[in-house]
Amino acid sequence: MPTSLLDDMIGVGDMVLLEPLNEDSFINNLKKRFDHNEVYTYIGSVVISINPYRSLPIYTPEKVEEYRNRNFYELSPHIFALSDEAYRSLRDQDKDQCILITGESGAGKTEASKLVMSYVAAVCGKGAEVNQVKEQLLQSNPVLEAFGNAKTVRNDNSSRFGKYMDIEFDFKGDPLGGVISNYLLEKSRVVKQPRGERNFHIFYQILSGASEDFLCKLKLERDFSRYNYLGLDSAKVNGVDDAANFRTVRNAMQIVGFMDHETQSVFEVVAAVLKLGNIEFKPESRVNGLDESKIKDKNELKEICELTGIDQSVLERAFSFRTVEAKQEKVSTTLNVAQAYYARDALAKNLYSRLFSWLVTRINESIKVSLKKVMGVLDIYGFEIFEDNSFEQFIINYCNEKLQQIFIELTLKEEQEEYIREGIEWTHIEYFNNAIICDLIENNQTGILAMLDEECLRPGTVTDDTFLEKLNQICATHQHFESRMSKCSRFLNDTSLPHSCFRIQHYAGKVMYQVEGFVDKNNDLLYRDLSQAMWKASHSLIKALFPEGNPAKINLKRPLTAGSQFKASVATLMKNLQTKNPNYIRCIKPNDKKAAHIFNDALVCHQIRYLGLLENVRVRRAGYAFRQAYEPCLERYKMLCKQTWPHWRGPISLTITLFKLEDLRKQRLEDLATLIEKIYRGWKCRTRFLLMKK
Ligand code: ADP
Ligand code: MG
Repeated sequence: MPTSLLDDMIGVGDMVLLEPLNEDSFINNLKKRFDHNEVYTYIGSVVISINPYRSLPIYTPEKVEEYRNRNFYELSPHIFALSDEAYRSLRDQDKDQCILITGESGAGKTEASKLVMSYVAAVCGKGAEVNQVKEQLLQSNPVLEAFGNAKTVRNDNSSRFGKYMDIEFDFKGDPLGGVISNYLLEKSRVVKQPRGERNFHIFYQILSGASEDFLCKLKLERDFSRYNYLGLDSAKVNGVDDAANFRTVRNAMQIVGFMDHETQSVFEVVAAVLKLGNIEFKPESRVNGLDESKIKDKNELKEICELTGIDQSVLERAFSFRTVEAKQEKVSTTLNVAQAYYARDALAKNLYSRLFSWLVTRINESIKVSLKKVMGVLDIYGFEIFEDNSFEQFIINYCNEKLQQIFIELTLKEEQEEYIREGIEWTHIEYFNNAIICDLIENNQTGILAMLDEECLRPGTVTDDTFLEKLNQICATHQHFESRMSKCSRFLNDTSLPHSCFRIQHYAGKVMYQVEGFVDKNNDLLYRDLSQAMWKASHSLIKALFPEGNPAKINLKRPLTAGSQFKASVATLMKNLQTKNPNYIRCIKPNDKKAAHIFNDALVCHQIRYLGLLENVRVRRAGYAFRQAYEPCLERYKMLCKQTWPHWRGPISLTITLFKLEDLRKQRLEDLATLIEKIYRGWKCRTRFLLMKK
């Protein structure tokens, strides 16, 4: 079938070839392809991926073979083509690679990252040792997903942490191991879940999948409804077999290299967290008039202590008193009921999130080697806009701003600047640069995170309201900040913006943040009495999770706030990514219903707009879409010129003159001659191929 007819039916595979190019034609093209099960489309080397929400037969071993060692544009667009290209550049040209996967929650990022990993595992090295490494790398996924993913309204398997994994290869391109970095787990989920959502998978998996005997050892009961920390309205998820997944996770832990006693310890901590939620407090009035709280039923406390080797009286005391050290003096104050619940939840969140970080460290111990060639795969939580957005969404969206910033830097800004540097005629293409929003959040003096830290560290009464007041003063005139309280506010009459909120106009849309909880979550305060109680546990894992509970280390400086930690780790990540050759997968969610076959034009339109995909195509089209380094190009075409074929040994600079276009024309290779002519035009630092239009 002629290409144009095929294009009419299933759309063009590379948006660079789309005629005419506008938003409608762009969306139409995606839709046509989606309807024909073509979920991948290129913009040059960028892969757009639309979540099909059903399994397509396009990831089989035969497909892997089909894409193996083929040139990127040879076959129809596929995530395997990008994986293959990245792997081959790494292996043959020694260029470290990173795969950047972005998109909203539920757009298919995590699945994409697993497809990339499994493709690379399938095509690289063979042999027992290599296979073991591959297995370990792949099996780290189910472990981290069990502990770090949860059902949300948007995605039944939503990643609630960010993950960056470097896969390390030797000079032959065989995998040696890897290193995983994790980013801020959404730990508030441990104690409370939004309506219709679940806690982390692992809790349900244990209760469904563990044997009676094992449950008994963990002092757990099978019934979900026994546990306050488990969201009731959505305990079972359609199509998810928690019990089977529990077996998968245990098996994966074994393959990754957890010893039996380690696995046991991990589940003891999980059980302890779950049981903590069942400790309840009641008020007890004392003669001195102070509010005190008392544990209602001590049975759960007793079992937790048996499970973890914590002294019951120590833990009980830590739930009733808080010790503050001021000027060498220790002052104990009693906790009222609200404070006791706060302490309990803080402990559960800390136990769980520290366990999660420990798991990552432990997996790294198994798979880590000294760095050789590296391919990094980034799968981080996507942009989130909920009805109620809190500190977690703020942090997640900040991270997405930074990723968009990298995309802009490398594909829109850098590319255009490069043409100008190389003296190639160029008309600037406009795009929105979100650097201004990144600055609003992360500026060291006036950024929102800096102000939040300042509030958290300031003596005196600090509340979410004083933080908001401060924001209102400093950010009132910022174009991307909106609030009603600031004096010179443009939003005084905007009743859709409550007084307790501020709104940020992110690159991907406006998000209204509820300021309540910001100070607390940033402080991430765990009363010292509790960390000391944990450190005293005879359970070696728990003890290791709370090093600051060691009285000998009591003068350790205050740990960084949650916001600062995140900002620092994002900065390290960005630096790391910038040293590698980026490969982009832009994931798009076709509908809000998690349903197959539905393509919602408006929803897709919104995503392609904020992702800057149209601008991306424009820059690609105006420029030189295909590039090749100087020498391989000569290698490939030298046989076309008398001067370079069959005998040629001259220096590279000579070849420029030797590449006489006449010679090529005489050989009736006119298309190629035009191509070479265009290469010649842009021939400064490297060779560029202008994409041939139809
Ligand atoms: P994200 O990580 O972007 O939040 P996920 O990768 O978890 O999204 O995808 C959400 C769900 O969509 C998956 O659980 C799966 O059911 C479906 N899905 C995503 N990508 C694919 C794909 N390539 N093929 C089939 N189903 C997919
Ligand atoms: Mg995910």
